[in-house]
Amino acid sequence: MTGSNTRNIKAIKFRTFNVAMAVAVAILAVILVGLIVLTASTHRKADEAAERYIACLQDSREMMDASDYLTDRVRAFVVTGDERYAHDYFEEIEKTRRRERSLEDLGRYFEGSEIYDYLENALTASADLTQPEYYAMRLKIESTGADLSRYPKALGSVELSDSDLALTPRAQGEKAQDLVFNEDYRIAKNTISNNVDSCLQALTATTYADQAANTILHKNLMAVQIMFTTLLLILSILMIVFIHPLVVSPLSNAVACMDREEKLPLQGAYELQFLASTYNELFERSRSRQDMLEHEAEHDPLTGLLNRRSFDKLCAELDGTGYTLIIIDIDKFKQINDKYGHDTGDMVLKKFAAMLLITFRPEDAVCRIGGDEFAVVMRSNSPVLRGVITQKVDEMNSAVAEPDGGIPGFTISAGAAFSVPGEPGDVIFKHADTALYVIKHTERMACKFYSPDDRIPQE
Ligand code: GH3
Ligand code: MG
Repeated sequence: MTGSNTRNIKAIKFRTFNVAMAVAVAILAVILVGLIVLTASTHRKADEAAERYIACLQDSREMMDASDYLTDRVRAFVVTGDERYAHDYFEEIEKTRRRERSLEDLGRYFEGSEIYDYLENALTASADLTQPEYYAMRLKIESTGADLSRYPKALGSVELSDSDLALTPRAQGEKAQDLVFNEDYRIAKNTISNNVDSCLQALTATTYADQAANTILHKNLMAVQIMFTTLLLILSILMIVFIHPLVVSPLSNAVACMDREEKLPLQGAYELQFLASTYNELFERSRSRQDMLEHEAEHDPLTGLLNRRSFDKLCAELDGTGYTLIIIDIDKFKQINDKYGHDTGDMVLKKFAAMLLITFRPEDAVCRIGGDEFAVVMRSNSPVLRGVITQKVDEMNSAVAEPDGGIPGFTISAGAAFSVPGEPGDVIFKHADTALYVIKHTERMACKFYSPDDRIPQE
């Protein structure tokens, strides 16, 4: 059974469909996760670039601020001679060291790049400038005649030229100022400032280029991500669209059919069609078995006519309706059995049953209610039937009287009764049976209609 089912059903296997969909969804999901990770990395790169840009901007400003601070302190010292300015200057040079620190910090991101080179050049130019600055401060101290030991040691090691030593204190003070205000000093300061500007320009250009590349990558990743998300969405919709005709609709149809006790339609996925086909075969078998059992319960196995049980049921149902009941009995049937044997007796019964079926109409119920006793229920109690029934019984008697192909001739007697309103079926049956009794004990081979005068003698 299962083999033939497998061969006949040509449908999508739900398992194959499901596996294919699951694989497709899994592949798309993995690609999407990869794309999301890549997109996240572009965000991180953008953040890092912004962070780097801000840090380097601060470094460049720090370099310029520190240089300007030194200039400011040295100029204040040579103008006022206030030693606090000299100490501030050396505090920056020796301890705070903002210029060196800013270069170190920039080196974390850009060492070896031109950004770094520019800031390094600025630092070198600034460092070169300390020479005239030291000299100017030393000259200023000389001009004021202050105690050199009160100043940072670095100034103590600066040696003044003989010509400067020979100058008057006023001239020494003026020269000291000139050294940090003159054109050379201004040019050197410009060099520092230009290098810092160049550093900032290079930083901006690099950051801009990085951001531009990152933005393009980010846009492309987003486009691919949207594409794969759309694909995933389409796949999900397809799954719903396919699962409906493959599984959902066939299942609900199957449930409805089972409710109505009908065969299942072969619909949907291969597995469901296989189940439906198997169910239908079992359903068919069970139904034919039930039909067979019902037929056996209602019919006589020898003649195939309705049996006594069916007849009794019919009589109970007929109560109150117009009908005519005929009971027919084969005359001297015992003798046929005795003379020709039981099998021949059976053949007689079968032949007569077949004759009854062709003599009466399909709407009339023909039953075997005893050994050689038959009953016919006609669905009318019109008086016209009196002649019709008499004629039918006579015709049957003529037809079976002669032997036929190994079946001996025989005769029949019949008793008939019309239904009476308000009388139950078993009363009408007694009437017909009484009429049969009367005919059997009078003329036989004929049909007798019940009359209230008919009696069965009580023994
Ligand atoms: P009567 O004319 O008065 O009806 O006499 P009869 O011999 O026909 O008597 P009765 O109707 O009482 O006999 C019925 C016989 O039918 C008795 C029984 O042995 C026989 N018989 C009952 N069932 C079967 C059957 O299935 N096959 C055969 N061959 N004979 C059966
Ligand atoms: Mg008989």
